Amino acid sequence: MSQNQQFDAIVVGAGFAGVYMLHCLRGAGLSVRVIEAGSGVGGTWYWNRYPGARCDIESMEYSYQFDDELQQEWVWSERYAPQKEILAYVEHVAKRFDLLRDIQFDTRVEAAHFDETSGRWQLSTDAGDEFSAQFCIMATGCLSSANTPDFPGLDAFEGDVYHTGTWPHEGVDFSGKRVGVIGTGSSAIQSVPLIAQEAEQLTVFQRTPSYSVPAHNGPLDPAEQARVKADYQGFRQRNAAMPFGAFADIGDTGGSALESTPEAREERYDLWWQKGGLPFLAAYGDLLFSTEANETAAEYVRRKIRAAVNDPATAEALTPSQVFGCKRLCADSGYFETFNRPNVSLVDVSQNPIEALTPTGLRTGGREYAFDAIVFATGFDAMTGALLGIDIRGKGGRTLQDKWAEGPRTYLGLSIVGFPSLFTVTGPGSPSVLANMVPAIEQHVNWIAACIEHMRGRGLARIEATPDAENAWVEHVNEVADETLFPQCNSWYLGANVPGKPRVFMPYIGFPTYVSKRLSRDCGSTPTVGSSSSSSRGRCIRLHARFRRRRMPPEKVRTRSPRRGESDTRASNSSARACSSSRLTPFSRPKKSRFSSALSSA
Ligand SMILES: Cc1cc2nc3c(=O)[nH]c(=O)nc-3n(C[C@H](O)[C@H](O)[C@H](O)COP(=O)(O)OP(=O)(O)OC[C@H]3O[C@@H](n4cnc5c(N)ncnc54)[C@H](O)[C@@H]3O)c2cc1C
Repeated sequence: MSQNQQFDAIVVGAGFAGVYMLHCLRGAGLSVRVIEAGSGVGGTWYWNRYPGARCDIESMEYSYQFDDELQQEWVWSERYAPQKEILAYVEHVAKRFDLLRDIQFDTRVEAAHFDETSGRWQLSTDAGDEFSAQFCIMATGCLSSANTPDFPGLDAFEGDVYHTGTWPHEGVDFSGKRVGVIGTGSSAIQSVPLIAQEAEQLTVFQRTPSYSVPAHNGPLDPAEQARVKADYQGFRQRNAAMPFGAFADIGDTGGSALESTPEAREERYDLWWQKGGLPFLAAYGDLLFSTEANETAAEYVRRKIRAAVNDPATAEALTPSQVFGCKRLCADSGYFETFNRPNVSLVDVSQNPIEALTPTGLRTGGREYAFDAIVFATGFDAMTGALLGIDIRGKGGRTLQDKWAEGPRTYLGLSIVGFPSLFTVTGPGSPSVLANMVPAIEQHVNWIAACIEHMRGRGLARIEATPDAENAWVEHVNEVADETLFPQCNSWYLGANVPGKPRVFMPYIGFPTYVSKRLSRDCGSTPTVGSSSSSSRGRCIRLHARFRRRRMPPEKVRTRSPRRGESDTRASNSSARACSSSRLTPFSRPKKSRFSSALSSA
């Protein structure tokens, strides 16, 4: 325990985001401390050690690009790297850039309060530490707050209980055990085939079936790896131009499903099914815009599921009816076929929800199921859970819980009105979980680092988005979402998996439009500041932040608009540019039509 340690910046979290944030801020000459609840770096890949855990964006894309030597020297073994390998990679990065000495592990930040007199953030931890810093960067993760449904009798079960998001480090041996898995999202889809191979008997409890496309994972072809490495920068740039920040080299995308003949559509879906994984969503450009187009893909995948599962009743239960892709699409390795095993069964709890956990198992539909172990594959309190788990208080002592009572409100997913000099990496309102997250993280970290450097260079003490900017951004995030089919499902993108959570579509759809600085002609490339006119669609979101000068007594502090070139919220969109050379660049409001065409051209 230590009292009132002073830093220029505190970073909370040591996943991909916190590790790179530390590297950038240290490079900029700041004193930085990273505080991490886990005992090591890696975040998602530190916690999610369940069998089958792996990325579903290809390894060559799901990695840092800020250092060319790093991306050249690291060798991925599989098309989709397993958890262990991704964790080893983040550990390697932390060591390679000598970052560990500034990370305090096994420490959870419990509170972060803004002190208006000093203009600094005061943080306290569960270890009794107190920190003070000018900048507070929340790199707490979008999928880091495990969600466990509040079933009656949760503590009554006398067997072993696991959550995929906090898996024991020593692993779990299910041999000879009766296992119940609750949930059928991505983590279940990855883990069920492997648990089934080990367990004596496996019962999967499903509320909503998921669409999944075969991952076709396997060893990564050295020739493919060499091809990418020969022009890694070009590869990154091509991916950055894609709607989800990935899948650029996978083949022809775009076009309209509705304008294709049924035969041509079938051929194309066959081709994308063979390629495997999430890019299936990009088989046509209108799949996420037109219900009719979407239905053609949905029906194709439903047919595949029915063909894979022998028992017609089980097949029917596993077949989703919702819009294809509006809940997170999954990539699997034999998930549906697993239900053909004699030791695996499915229980549909959509009509008869789980009533309670009992000392021997659980009860649903008036029936008792006995287990030795229960696995919660119930996902996360996504995007806001980790932030709201901290007692964050901004100006006037206002809590973030209060500010976000109706759902998260941010400017660009980077900053929050009323919470000066606090940044969120891939916060709600940014592409985050609807993008390849490592580049999305790098883009935010680059911007934050450049912003802080900019402020320090000009003696600016604090930064805060303007209310107009935040309001306009929230409105814009919703407008873009409403153009698509995404809001039509009860997904975790909307917070629908957590009872009582406000239904707000949280991620921003469209990575390139978010990053691009030239989408609105009205804005051109000129940095703009001020307030937005939310009614003028297509004009710049002319935002921005208020700065405060240093060393002024609070009662005399004046605010001023930043001058041309001083403001703004978006770091360089150059995928190959590291934090040290980031520039502040203007942010303009993407036009709706530009978004649609960007997605269509994928
Ligand atoms: C199983 C799984 C598979 C995924 N696969 C992909 C994929 O293929 N592609 C993709 O783009 N994304 C994927 N993701 C999303 C993944 O979360 C991101 O890609 C990325 O790892 C996030 O990094 P991060 O540093 O932002 O957050 P995290 O990795 O979540 O790290 C946040 C860290 O903050 C710490 N923390 C939180 N609150 C506190 C606190 N109060 N005090 C101290 N520490 C705190 C946590 O302990 C955690 O270590 C996946 C997520 C999961 C769960």
